[in-house]
Amino acid sequence: MDEPCIALLGVKGGPAIRPGSNMPTSILLRLGGRTILVDAGLGVTRAVCDQGVALTGIDLILVTHLHSDHYLELGPLLHTAWTAGLTRPVPILGPPGLRQYWERFLDAMAFDIDLRIADEGRVPLAPVADLREMAEGEVWRDGPLRIEAILNAHPPIEESYALRLWDGARRVVLSGDTAPFAGWDAFVAGADLLVHEAMLTRGVDAVIAGLAHPDPRLKAHILRAHTPAEEVGALAARTGVKALALNHFVPDGLPGITEDDWVAAVRQHWDGPLHIGRDGLRLPLG
Ligand SMILES: [Zn+2]
Ligand SMILES: [Zn+2]
Repeated sequence: MDEPCIALLGVKGGPAIRPGSNMPTSILLRLGGRTILVDAGLGVTRAVCDQGVALTGIDLILVTHLHSDHYLELGPLLHTAWTAGLTRPVPILGPPGLRQYWERFLDAMAFDIDLRIADEGRVPLAPVADLREMAEGEVWRDGPLRIEAILNAHPPIEESYALRLWDGARRVVLSGDTAPFAGWDAFVAGADLLVHEAMLTRGVDAVIAGLAHPDPRLKAHILRAHTPAEEVGALAARTGVKALALNHFVPDGLPGITEDDWVAAVRQHWDGPLHIGRDGLRLPLG
């Protein structure tokens, strides 16, 4: 992963996995000479390695919001990178609650961590996470690489972000989890690649029906916190992005819904280059 590229490590929306489903959300980018991880859902550690990237080679981590499908494996990722030889601090940007998550992860694993420090001579693990709070605006600048964040619309979570990454030549916009919101078009405009979450509204009822304990609150949450795939196509058309990749599929792995359904929904409004995400899909950023 030396050339500029993006890898969709996990493209499933929501935390539950089942036989045949994709894995929850993580995205790995190589941009501006840096290796950047956005979100750290379940499976991220294995998925980074499967891209041929050493765990010790991650330069920066951003967490878009504190739904578990976006950060459940952050602690295990850092712990595993530490056992793989990571000794330097890794900057991690995310909502304020991330600090509590990290401190309590360290508490939960204290026996093992203390043992490895005493018994194997490892450096302390706590400082390996250089935690910083995300806020709107430019959140990172490093050589040619610039990263900007904007609050998106993912109720009831208030601190949920979309990201724009730029290396001076390429602009990549990542939606995070979001419903459409004012200001989104302007943030997306000019993107060489837009990676956007997507929902098939007709599939939501099937998701709810498949649950052991269906609750109407879940359907209401999904519908007000995500973007229908048709809307994603309309957004791409309005803003003139050069390419679109769908990820964070709701539903995912449901019998009767195929790639063709996602393509058909987007194509109602947009006919540009379209990638339907799957776990491990790597796209060059030419
Ligand atoms: Zn999510
Ligand atoms: Zn979410």
